[in-house]
Amino acid sequence: MNQVYQISLIACLIFAILLFTGLAYSSIIFYKEKEQRAAFRSLLLCLLLPPVYFISWYYNWQIVAFVLTLDLLFTGILFFIPFGKKENITDEAPKNQIDERDIMFARNELKENTKRYEEYYSKNPDKLAPDNKFREEPGLTAEKSIFYNELACKAANASFFTVEQFHKAVDGKINPIQSNVSKTDLSKFLKNWSKKLGALNVGIAELQNYHFYSHKGRGEEYGNPIESKHTYALAFTVEMNQEMVASAPQSPIVMESAQQYLEAGRIAIQLAQFLRSLGFSARAHIDGNYQVVCPLVARDAGLGEIGRMGLLMTPNEGPRVRLGVVTTEFELEADKRHKDHSMLDFCVKCKKCADVCPSKSISFDEPKTVNGVKRWQINSESCFTYWCKAGTDCGRCMACCPYSHPDNFLHNFIRFGIKNSSLFRILAVHLDDFFYGRKPKSANLPNWIPENKKAQK
Ligand code: SF4
Ligand code: SF4
Repeated sequence: MNQVYQISLIACLIFAILLFTGLAYSSIIFYKEKEQRAAFRSLLLCLLLPPVYFISWYYNWQIVAFVLTLDLLFTGILFFIPFGKKENITDEAPKNQIDERDIMFARNELKENTKRYEEYYSKNPDKLAPDNKFREEPGLTAEKSIFYNELACKAANASFFTVEQFHKAVDGKINPIQSNVSKTDLSKFLKNWSKKLGALNVGIAELQNYHFYSHKGRGEEYGNPIESKHTYALAFTVEMNQEMVASAPQSPIVMESAQQYLEAGRIAIQLAQFLRSLGFSARAHIDGNYQVVCPLVARDAGLGEIGRMGLLMTPNEGPRVRLGVVTTEFELEADKRHKDHSMLDFCVKCKKCADVCPSKSISFDEPKTVNGVKRWQINSESCFTYWCKAGTDCGRCMACCPYSHPDNFLHNFIRFGIKNSSLFRILAVHLDDFFYGRKPKSANLPNWIPENKKAQK
């Protein structure tokens, strides 16, 4: 036993040094990320915890050293030992195609006393009352909305305007002379070039029926059935800036969303045009002009999972991304999807997005069977009504999600533990609450965006 105590004492000294270094490093990182509460708490722990280990070693408190060592070893086991069932928390393939006319953006474009409006609500009378609620609100980027900020909202509108100019370029003429490039070479080229163009992660999926909307819900083709011969899709993410997202639901979030829709649109247009120039039919799917359900395509291309808040969650940036997709008839080399059970299991335990959602649109429950498929489903009607009231696309859920923390060593170290062990996932939820708060406050606007509602002259 004496030997065990001696080892515990040495372990205490080593742990004191490791804890001090780790916590001091965390405080610096949190401070740089402008997370004041997390930085303060980390610093406090740094001043309190390592001395306990150091003092035990210094004064030769053998039993205390033994207990402290066991405590840290247990946490290490939680962290490093793979643990947890790999059950299917959600189902993979939706049974039916989604009709784009049913999504909120399409319903938002319906104007009273028009044929489309009359037709839609005579077929879907149950949707009229919830839709009238969002119509009573000022609307996205509107002047009377809660978080209206003249500069940020007009900047967002300028980005939305620019991406709209791309609509006519989503498809186009195909070179009649087809390249004989191999699928391996073209897949590799496309993935690498996408990253050079600004994409963060890129994957390829073989298209299934459920990836396509059944009918167009926006623009001139409204109501047309979607018939596409495309069999493969390249999906990619673009990162949303952490500082802009952190102030959600204030105006920088809508500015950043619009900016990244534009980035994703630009990249998709370039890639689709490139494929057509090689002689293959290709279409870009960009903001306001989709034929496919981007999160499903991106998930099946191996880019992440669809969690509690209904957005694609990527391993290193969480939901803090926007998506772009290019579909083509060319047979690309599809990526193998490995379902990330740890991410979905973390969603079962975490529920932070449900707690912070101002419109209570996110469920606290386990996934439910909707149209024969087990999944989480948010209340898109109450969510969109809040957007129209706030004047922004809110993004509180995205900003507070523990997966949205920046992609750096500190957060990736925690993500490693989350991926590895179901027990650590429980601890990680509590750690996130301890450092950031269960309902973290919105960050201040970046200092170059004036706080006042009207622009300063
Ligand atoms: S906040 Fe938590 S529950 Fe919500 S999506 Fe993120 S990890 Fe899942
Ligand atoms: S965007 Fe806002 S309102 Fe919509 S689900 Fe997320 S937190 Fe709730």
